[in-house]
Amino acid sequence: MARAEVTDVAVVGGGPAGLAAALAARQAGCGVVLVDENRTLGGQLRKQIHKFFGSRVHRAGIRGIRIAKELEDACLEAGVKIWTETVAYGIFGSTLGLMRGRNSLTLTAKAIILATGASENALAFPGCTLPGVMGAGAAQTFINLHRVLPGRRILTVGAGNVGLIVSYQLLQAGAEVVALVEAAPRIGGYAVHAAKLERSGVPIWTSHSVLEARGDGELSEVTVVAVDNHFQNIPGTERTLEVDTICLAVGLTPLTELAWQAGCQFAYSGPLGGHVPLHSADMETTVPGLFVAGDISGVEEASTALEEGSLAGMSAALFVGVGDRKLEAKRVESRERLAQLRSGPFGTVLQQAQDSIVREWARCGRER
Ligand SMILES: Cc1cc2nc3c(=O)[nH]c(=O)nc-3n(C[C@H](O)[C@H](O)[C@H](O)COP(=O)(O)OP(=O)(O)OC[C@H]3O[C@@H](n4cnc5c(N)ncnc54)[C@H](O)[C@@H]3O)c2cc1C
Repeated sequence: MARAEVTDVAVVGGGPAGLAAALAARQAGCGVVLVDENRTLGGQLRKQIHKFFGSRVHRAGIRGIRIAKELEDACLEAGVKIWTETVAYGIFGSTLGLMRGRNSLTLTAKAIILATGASENALAFPGCTLPGVMGAGAAQTFINLHRVLPGRRILTVGAGNVGLIVSYQLLQAGAEVVALVEAAPRIGGYAVHAAKLERSGVPIWTSHSVLEARGDGELSEVTVVAVDNHFQNIPGTERTLEVDTICLAVGLTPLTELAWQAGCQFAYSGPLGGHVPLHSADMETTVPGLFVAGDISGVEEASTALEEGSLAGMSAALFVGVGDRKLEAKRVESRERLAQLRSGPFGTVLQQAQDSIVREWARCGRER
């Protein structure tokens, strides 16, 4: 017989969004259980050894790994129950199906917050299944968590922040980054990260993509090619590079399986990384009592994930009947901070995309 537990608020995912959500719900007075499949908490933050950018309120200037520890300590001190090495495999109404090792258990909650993050996108090209072709996040896990180089000569694909940061960390770890290719005509990530690579002698070739990877059982070389404004290969521009690793940093997709299973309504949003569960400005999905926060609700940044997590935690507390006017006021402040985070040049597109998700959520509500 599976063990059955009950709580006010259950949080799935112990990244910045889940930790912030658990803390906010607990501080509002709820009993909170947070589950994460990993042995240690922090999600993506566990691999982020660099100092974060963004705003001071969201811990800019602090290394991601330290932010994770600070949040975990705050959760423990506040009395959040933390279940690590526990996978949420299903959601059945207000009950989560969980696996811990070989043991199955259930957790029933008055409100559930999904903060499951995102998964890396792949890229299809001849040879893309050769050992040595991997996501940039996987390479980052190798170097920053396990202290092992994934390879010695590396090509990175994608010049967003993830591609730029991971390439620089690979250099710091002792690998040679032979080049970074980006299909768009310009670098998508922050100039400060690109400048570090360029100063280190790593060429960044924009309007370039991968044509083919080759190797006998493992990757040994790759051919890259220039592309035109329609992303069509330009014959005669091929270059072949000797590499043993290709790091793909071509975007992330929200991890939404549990939200689909719960019956949430979705919309597709290119800027937010794919299909995202419709949610209100306070992070409630179209399923009453089910909330989302962080990359699952649209791929953005850790700072946004932290703020959305706090907002979802407060909303869940209000949903279960804990909290008062003061909490309502704090929610308003949190929404204002979120808007502030999305006010920069990159943020405006994300704000518009999130506004459209919220409008769709309201439309669905009227139809319900
Ligand atoms: C290389 C890189 C550099 C970055 N640098 C910055 C930066 O400088 N500044 C910034 O603001 N952001 C940065 N980010 C982005 C930031 O890390 C993410 O936006 C943020 O971590 C998203 O938080 P999250 O809590 O939604 O998801 P995650 O951090 O991905 O956490 C989700 C957690 O949920 C767990 N989980 C998922 N499904 C289940 C399940 N079914 N059961 C149990 N557990 C589950 C996962 O294992 C994970 O631990 C960077 C990202 C990368 C990859």
